[in-house]
Amino acid sequence: MSRYSNIISGRVKNMQKCSVRSFSFRSIIKFLSIYYRVKPESAKPPYNFICQVGDPVLRQKAAPIDTKIIQTQEFQNTVDHLHKMLRKYDTVGLAAPQIGLPWQLFVIELREDSVNEVHPFFQKTCNIVPCPLTYFINPKLEIINPEEDIMFETCASINCYHAEVARPLEVEIKALNRFGEPFCWREKGWLARIAHHEMDHLKGLLYTDRMFPLTFDYIDWEKTYNKKRNVVIN
Ligand SMILES: [Zn+2]
Repeated sequence: MSRYSNIISGRVKNMQKCSVRSFSFRSIIKFLSIYYRVKPESAKPPYNFICQVGDPVLRQKAAPIDTKIIQTQEFQNTVDHLHKMLRKYDTVGLAAPQIGLPWQLFVIELREDSVNEVHPFFQKTCNIVPCPLTYFINPKLEIINPEEDIMFETCASINCYHAEVARPLEVEIKALNRFGEPFCWREKGWLARIAHHEMDHLKGLLYTDRMFPLTFDYIDWEKTYNKKRNVVIN
């Protein structure tokens, strides 16, 4: 017993010496502050920016929207704002938690001009087709074809990174549109991937939870070589 306690107390003393040498008080406070970060009190959603990974709202389970509020002007304005943010950040899908609202709502829009920017070979092999502006309220997703396709994916909430993610080939979503009317949406390929990704946002999941970790890249990593930062060694 005493032998073990000596070993432990010896290690504690060593750690203390080590700590004094290695860590400044400021660096310890900075490290601990990670656990006590809070949003500025003035921050009130919906935001006019996209929340980045680390924001707790992206890890919350989104709540269903009370159908009584759908017809209100405030809700309709919020829906329009979500679409405005999708266009502003040039993305094809955006979920309400990404603008700070933990609600079961997302939007998808894939315009024809965006599809035409993709090489025809990839349009065909990745099954990339346009999708008109579609709002999904309180969506329920069913996987129609569980066979998976692996492709690189990005997310506006994990800016500048991408990774390969496996997603089902075909999905069906039953949801309400922006006027509270039920509809059924079934898609394959790229659109099925986008919908599955947005549904994940409503569960507090990000693509990094599903990715193949070794494929996780900073998209523009090679551009850092173009800045002539070479050190001259004499
Ligand atoms: Zn995303």
